[in-house]
Amino acid sequence: MFRKVLIANRGEIARRIAATLRELGVRSVAVYSEADRGSLHTRICDEAVFIGPAEARESYLNIRAVVEAAQQSGADAVHPGFGFLAENAAFAEAVEKAGLTFIGPTPAQITAMGDKREARKIAERAGVPIVPGAEGADADALARAANAMGYPVIIKAALGGGGKGMQTARNEAELREGIEAAQRVAASAFGDPSVYIEKLLEHARHIEVQVLGDGHGRALHLYERDCTLQRRHQKVVEEAPSASLTSDQRTVVTHAAVRLAEAVRYRGAGTIETLLTREGQVYFLEMNTRLQVEHPVTELITGIDLVRAQLEIAATGKLPCEQHQLQRHGHAIEVRLYAEDAAKGFLPQVGTVSRVRWPYGPFVRVDHGIESGDSVSIHYDPMLAKIIAHGPDRETAIERLLAALDDTRVHGVVTNLPFLKALLRAPEVRKGSYDTEWIEREFLQPFAALMQAPAPELALAAAAIAEALGGSNATVAAPGAAPAAAPDPFAALGRWRQGGLGA
Ligand code: ADP
Repeated sequence: MFRKVLIANRGEIARRIAATLRELGVRSVAVYSEADRGSLHTRICDEAVFIGPAEARESYLNIRAVVEAAQQSGADAVHPGFGFLAENAAFAEAVEKAGLTFIGPTPAQITAMGDKREARKIAERAGVPIVPGAEGADADALARAANAMGYPVIIKAALGGGGKGMQTARNEAELREGIEAAQRVAASAFGDPSVYIEKLLEHARHIEVQVLGDGHGRALHLYERDCTLQRRHQKVVEEAPSASLTSDQRTVVTHAAVRLAEAVRYRGAGTIETLLTREGQVYFLEMNTRLQVEHPVTELITGIDLVRAQLEIAATGKLPCEQHQLQRHGHAIEVRLYAEDAAKGFLPQVGTVSRVRWPYGPFVRVDHGIESGDSVSIHYDPMLAKIIAHGPDRETAIERLLAALDDTRVHGVVTNLPFLKALLRAPEVRKGSYDTEWIEREFLQPFAALMQAPAPELALAAAAIAEALGGSNATVAAPGAAPAAAPDPFAALGRWRQGGLGA
């Protein structure tokens, strides 16, 4: 095992990696920018090295600064976390050139999977079905391909990620417009304007498989995660296992993922993302060559520490166990807590978190990057924490997560907590009947209506709604009597929608 590992990241994921390092008796080195002086990840690591100005480009994305920090601190390996340089082949290469171990796949694997067009070809060769799609030298070629394939199609950045630059087109005019827009975003966000198209799969679910490869051609899977609840193609809630997968479909998708990982002799932890159609077909979307934000749900159902597995594979080239030794237990579900104002178009928020209270419970896990008094900077992703609950079944896991969210307090900065609470109470979410577009298509409007009610009127609105639904939870206080406890407006939202009163 390594002696000292530099964590090339910040926030909750740096803290998550440091926790495993501590357990293994490996020293941890944090890096921090001007904006992160004294922040939580620097406080909990054994050492911290300053790497530059607040702008990520000059600090967390600065390959030279990070590699120098690793050398200067005497680390023998670097863990990239996710985001920043985690899927940057030049970084992995620079780390290796400096004589250190990169905890992740080889630079060649990062490059191959980083170009989604290339990844699709690799998947196809490995016998994994890909979403029908096409590449083209220019807009004319893409238009010909789209016309032949049929609309709607989705335009994607070849080097894309985080849902950025994706455009849906329902006809040729939209396609041409979308290509230009996608190229612009791709050039500025990914440094390459290349785009390609895929058939838009409607009413699909996002199913992804966690894999571990030893780098020598052996791989295993740790089951799937369902990340269908999305807004703007970005995940909001993630869970494992998927409630909508039959055991045959699970076998198909997990075996396909292992086949793909073995075909490329994948090294380390990776995720194979797929879309499951209403007809039950599974199609490869892309492979992420790093630890995912949502890895905790897999850890909770399998009992495998994925960071530890990454470290062990990097140090020894050995997988943590055999496939047949793996079992899954119960259900885990995670929400991403963001500093953003859901009532104002999910506008990112900055400021000082004057006070925070994280939930407590025997089956609750909180991966957070802030404590009371910490600040949220405009320079980085506004995700503050992930709150995760485990239970013997999906229903119990959701109940536990809701109780945890009700117990969470973040003061000083507006968060998406009300949105998450309302979402988990929506009947469709409880039943598991939704697709990747459902939040935007059906949930945002009633949620916005509820949020627009002035705060003191929320409880009244909720009571009125409950009364209209037959008074199930509405209590009318006699004059002079103590006021009844204010009904929970987010519970009321669920009842309102269940009652079919519409948006
Ligand atoms: P990114 O790498 O930017 O996250 P992905 O290719 O992983 O992009 O897709 C992200 C999400 O976008 C998917 O989970 C899904 O909701 C939607 N999506 C992507 N491709 C398609 C498609 N062909 N049809 C329908 N939805 C898609």
